[in-house]
Amino acid sequence: MACVFCKIAAGEIPAKVVASDDSVIAFHDIAPRAPVHVLVVPRKHIASVADAEDADRDVLGRLMLMARRVAQDLGIAERGYRLIVNVREHGGQEVPHLHVHVLGGKPLGPMLARPS
Ligand code: 5GP
Ligand code: ZN
Repeated sequence: MACVFCKIAAGEIPAKVVASDDSVIAFHDIAPRAPVHVLVVPRKHIASVADAEDADRDVLGRLMLMARRVAQDLGIAERGYRLIVNVREHGGQEVPHLHVHVLGGKPLGPMLARPS
């Protein structure tokens, strides 16, 4: 198993775990871009949203509900936060295991850099 997030889910490499259940796990990003930066990933290896199947409907829903729970538990829900799911090359996805970024703890600015 070469996938870094599969290894984290299996406990084979360490991560600062925030919450987990039988289908998803949430842990702090190793290079945070905001005061709160958590990744929520399915325990099952799914490369990206583009690779998910209809049968993954339940786990896709659980990712969102876990992201919401993390935001509540880490105290950023009231003022708001951003969920980002990068998909493949043009989406800027670097780790090919589906993950939801939970970002917050400060105003996050525009969704994308404005065209210059
Ligand atoms: P992507 O660009 O694929 O949407 O985001 C991948 C994220 O995974 C990046 O924010 C990166 O910092 C994080 N990351 C990569 N390797 C590791 C790791 O081994 N541990 C943790 N906790 N985060 C990682
Ligand atoms: Zn994986």
